[in-house]
Amino acid sequence: MTADLFKEKFGYEIEGVWFPRVTSITSPLQKKWWGMRRAAEWGTLIHETVEDMLRGENVSPDAKCAVAIETFLRWQSEYPMRIADPVNDIEKRVWDPEYGYAGTVDIIAEVEGVRGIIDVKTSTAVVKEHYLQTAAYLYAYNKTSGTNRPCQTRWILRIDQYQECRGCLAKLRIKYGSQSINGGKSANWRICNHQWGAAKGEIEFQELKGYERDLALFFDLKERWEWANKEWLARIPNYEKNIRQHALL
Ligand SMILES: [Zn+2]
Repeated sequence: MTADLFKEKFGYEIEGVWFPRVTSITSPLQKKWWGMRRAAEWGTLIHETVEDMLRGENVSPDAKCAVAIETFLRWQSEYPMRIADPVNDIEKRVWDPEYGYAGTVDIIAEVEGVRGIIDVKTSTAVVKEHYLQTAAYLYAYNKTSGTNRPCQTRWILRIDQYQECRGCLAKLRIKYGSQSINGGKSANWRICNHQWGAAKGEIEFQELKGYERDLALFFDLKERWEWANKEWLARIPNYEKNIRQHALL
């Protein structure tokens, strides 16, 4: 890998300064397994479709995620999520010049009178790294973009799609490929001759509590990430300033 590739892979350049991405910093928490690439593609598809729809564009969803999107639209029609400024409040780049990191907030919205950031996830559950990522986004947003109208909280909007076995209730997720079948209710789900039902969509909207603790943990993790990558970071001149500032903490 070259320093340029490292920069591109793990960060963003904003106004001449290089910032590592929040998701690069939290990636050690991620469980890595063979289905990741396909799952990432499915996740990108969901993000693009949902965000285009929220911008008011006319989108016909790809067949691979149509059921999930249908479920999302039904949820949205019942749920008061208000986006004040779709041009600026969807896919919002945020960064913290002081501690040196950047990221992209999926949606900034008002829900039942509370303004907050929404991170769209396509995982099968809300996991620990989501807490740290959204804490980092919320902090950076309020510091650089939300000075007039700060966000008070963070939510995960989880969008999933699966088929369930009629026999053992195991779940098959096409986003991971045909071999991703998770735990049915009966003990012998591994040997069940699965009978897959129609695809089902699933939406989870969850507020994440414990912002301050999560933010502190994110900064801890960032320090470890910098240490683990220090040889690379030393080769990125437009990151130097941030390393020094962080060292003074
Ligand atoms: Zn089965």
